[in-house]
Amino acid sequence: MIPGSFAYHRPQSVGDAVALLADLGEDARPLAGGHSLIPMMKLRLAMPEHLVDLAGIPGLKGIRQDNNDIVIGAMTTQHELIASDLVGAKIPILREAALLIADPQVRYVGTVGGNVANGDPANDMPAIMMCLGAAYQLTGKEGERRIPARRFYQGAYVTALQPPEILTAIRIPIPADRHGSAYEKLKRKVGDYATAAAAVVLTRDGDRIATCSIGLTNVGDTPLWAEEAGRLVVGTRLDADTVKKAVAAAEAITSPVSDRRGPAHYRTRMAGVMVARALKRANERAG
Ligand SMILES: Cc1cc2nc3c(=O)[nH]c(=O)nc-3n(C[C@H](O)[C@H](O)[C@H](O)COP(=O)(O)OP(=O)(O)OC[C@H]3O[C@@H](n4cnc5c(N)ncnc54)[C@H](O)[C@@H]3O)c2cc1C
Repeated sequence: MIPGSFAYHRPQSVGDAVALLADLGEDARPLAGGHSLIPMMKLRLAMPEHLVDLAGIPGLKGIRQDNNDIVIGAMTTQHELIASDLVGAKIPILREAALLIADPQVRYVGTVGGNVANGDPANDMPAIMMCLGAAYQLTGKEGERRIPARRFYQGAYVTALQPPEILTAIRIPIPADRHGSAYEKLKRKVGDYATAAAAVVLTRDGDRIATCSIGLTNVGDTPLWAEEAGRLVVGTRLDADTVKKAVAAAEAITSPVSDRRGPAHYRTRMAGVMVARALKRANERAG
């Protein structure tokens, strides 16, 4: 399928990109890796008249440590995330999850920024960013602002981005050294979006759970942070009864649609199964 015609722009700075998007108005869209936007354009679900490509802007790429945060430039590709020793050492759940996105071809071009800015509840990175307590750095006409990932997602493809704002970076607090994490994703085949997926990051104090955060992918209009489910686990030894309660609390906040990946009730149950598996694996990896 062929997308409708559009004009292509390639600004050289964040300021120029924001100015262009402001001038061109609602007919313009930022373009990152194009691996969500171009398929949408081919299906005529998106018909922007102008694409503002962010690929020529230096400084939007790269991964660095800034005190206790890892900062990932929005145009960093999913492949670069996987290849980063810093990410592997400090926040291994990002590498684990990125390896479950699509296939190498998509990951060589698709960006981390595009994945989180897209607003598709099926994208894997948003729930993980919520689980990790990440913040998004946005630049618009009024300058820069920072918003927590947990407040960014408002509905399917609706986010707190206010055009002409662009996402420039993702800032993630580094979890404690001895934390455990896991991303469990159920998919129909390699390269598929999640039927349901769960991210867990936890720490232990002796044999008890000291902190626990849980995120859910593709079981609602937005990615979900299962705050209550995480809270129920804290202070316990993660015994079977606790896992059951956490699973029930996580399932209770889901509202998936029935689609080719299965009926809604099945996807809710699978979210629970993913939570139980991710809790177990994260606990095994902690300490
Ligand atoms: C076959 C296939 C399988 C896939 N499977 C998965 C999967 O299993 N899991 C998964 O998570 N993803 C999957 N994807 C999507 C892939 O990860 C995309 O690369 C990603 O969703 C979007 O990143 P992008 O860089 O391609 O962004 P684009 O497609 O260029 O942009 C996506 C949207 O975000 C906006 N945007 C992008 N960057 C910015 C920015 N910096 N500031 C403001 N707005 C911005 C764009 O305007 C657009 O609306 C798959 C894609 C394909 C083609």
